[in-house]
Amino acid sequence: MNVEFKRKMPTHQALKDMYPISDELVKIKRENDKALQAVFTGDDDRLVLVIGPCSADREDAVLEYISRLRRVQERVIDKIIIVPRVYTNKPRTTGDGYKGMLHQPDPNSSPDMLKGLIAIRKLHMKVLGQTGFSCADEMLYPENHNYLSDVLSYVAVGARSVENQLHRLTASGLDIPVGMKNPTGGDLSVMMNSITAAQHAHTFVYSNWEVQSKGNPLAHAILRGYANKHGRTVPNYHYEDLQLLCELYAKSGLSNPGVVIDTNHSNSGKHWEEQPRIAKEILHSTRHSGDIFRMVKGLMIESYLEDGKQSPDGCVYGKSITDPCLGWDKTERLILELADLR
Ligand code: PEP
Ligand code: MN
Repeated sequence: MNVEFKRKMPTHQALKDMYPISDELVKIKRENDKALQAVFTGDDDRLVLVIGPCSADREDAVLEYISRLRRVQERVIDKIIIVPRVYTNKPRTTGDGYKGMLHQPDPNSSPDMLKGLIAIRKLHMKVLGQTGFSCADEMLYPENHNYLSDVLSYVAVGARSVENQLHRLTASGLDIPVGMKNPTGGDLSVMMNSITAAQHAHTFVYSNWEVQSKGNPLAHAILRGYANKHGRTVPNYHYEDLQLLCELYAKSGLSNPGVVIDTNHSNSGKHWEEQPRIAKEILHSTRHSGDIFRMVKGLMIESYLEDGKQSPDGCVYGKSITDPCLGWDKTERLILELADLR
């Protein structure tokens, strides 16, 4: 074999025992889950904002960013539920580049997976402890979900993973909303099949166990735009795209038809500064159709302390090292505007 088995990693339970969350935090996370569940089942029509940096690259800047979100959350609580993005593992298009805090707890040092695993658990715990938010992360490695299952309130399956069986089956065993992104090529049937698989019960192997999942009725769609065969990005957040998704849901027989719309990635063509315009267009669309209003559960926005992005080995505090983000002032303004429009 062409691989060195370097060291054994702790089991899910061992890591949770080493870094346990208090009963009080368990209660806060349960309340957050309940509020979010009500949105995805249609009992609450507040708008969910899954918002934060493309990658959680350093603890201090992420904590500062999310404490600012907490203050805005209090101002818009009757219209908007904020779920911070704390994305600790990043899929890479060619496999190269920064793979997130899990791989590199210090972006400027070599990968160290054990340190990384501890760093991401501590980060999610600190965010919960200091701000009361249980956050969103990408489920890039399904087997790792259980290291964070007691601190996460939302999970996304990325555009490069959504066709993968283990992601789908793992999602079927979660009791929090799981967003299935459309794949990078844009085929909506791949996304719908993924939601179907996640909503159904399955027997499978997970972490050396034979497990039985119950099916997750909170699995839903995320539209993130796509690239066509010429590599040009094509958005899928417009009114007609949302109408089409409504029709697909109507034919599908799926529970809780829902979509979160990603305003960056191929929807903005990574023109991060377009995100406010895109977000407001989507809210405008929801006013023209009751079906679209009921289906649109939220938006996913890439935002951080500073506008744009820096070079991968840069060390500007609060500036994204992966996809370019909307900076703080524009973010705060946007959240307040979205609350007015809802
Ligand atoms: C992301 O949300 O940063 C991301 C990598 O998304 P996608 O899977 O849509 O490319
Ligand atoms: Mn991104």
